[in-house]
Amino acid sequence: DQEQPKKPSWIRVKAPTSQGYKETRDILKANRLVTVCEEAGCPNVGECWSAGHATMMIMGDICTRGCSFCNVATGRPDALDVFEPGRVAHAVQTLGLKHVVITSVDRDDLADGGAEHFAQTIRAIRHRAPDTTIEILTPDFLKCDASALEMVVAAKPDVFNHNLETVPGLYPTVRPGARYFHSLRLLQRVKEIDPTIFTKSGIMVGLGEDAQGVRQVMDDMRAADVDFLTIGQYLQPTPKHHRVDRFVTPEEFASYEKAAWGKGFLMVSATPLTRSSYHAGEDFARLRAA
Ligand code: SF4
Ligand code: SF4
Repeated sequence: DQEQPKKPSWIRVKAPTSQGYKETRDILKANRLVTVCEEAGCPNVGECWSAGHATMMIMGDICTRGCSFCNVATGRPDALDVFEPGRVAHAVQTLGLKHVVITSVDRDDLADGGAEHFAQTIRAIRHRAPDTTIEILTPDFLKCDASALEMVVAAKPDVFNHNLETVPGLYPTVRPGARYFHSLRLLQRVKEIDPTIFTKSGIMVGLGEDAQGVRQVMDDMRAADVDFLTIGQYLQPTPKHHRVDRFVTPEEFASYEKAAWGKGFLMVSATPLTRSSYHAGEDFARLRAA
């Protein structure tokens, strides 16, 4: 195995200790909810949970895919829990969230890829917490027919996020089982079905891509009418996962961000610790107020 590059000073993670963090953790636990914040070992967990912001993962914590950057277990998932949408909605209401991000594992074992469950979760949150804006971060519904995506879009999330994760050339090693152009088309399709929904996507850098490849992905996203972009540094969850090729410098992130604004994205976050859902609520609120 090749040696990993050393973590630079700008990747600093504060240990989560605040009261807000503990309250968020207790409410999520009481509702038996899985969060991506914990599953992915996200470096922002202290900051986000203190602010009452969390990304909930529905449909279990076992995924039918095995992306090489991801810490979620691969295997055969459990049956869907019909009460889960209600529990998610209850937690959103109890936490008093202004903006919630709902994501899921990939469910290639289900005919609709979990689309109906996503739609039910959106509807349950709308019912319990009508003022909360809802962002969903979905799988690619690769093995489903068109009705799966249509069902999710019809439930009218405020933001539809689906991450491209990396440049197309790295798909075979980083995101096997997914198809770059399928994911891109999925995003474009959301906008075609309902232009009032904001679309969002993101990539990780430091996996072995080059700057030109990153700029091409931005162009592809804009061609598919993607509104919001996130770019963050890939961090290896365990030594078994895809290696970190390099740590992209804050200056390079700044230049990606500048390029992205120039290409017409409505919202851009490109920093080492940017994650798909990092500050999503604040950014969205700012955009709506503008
Ligand atoms: Fe959770 Fe997203 Fe915040 Fe990470 S950035 S702690 S995944 S809400
Ligand atoms: Fe992880 Fe999503 Fe890939 Fe499943 S599909 S392994 S949850 S990144």
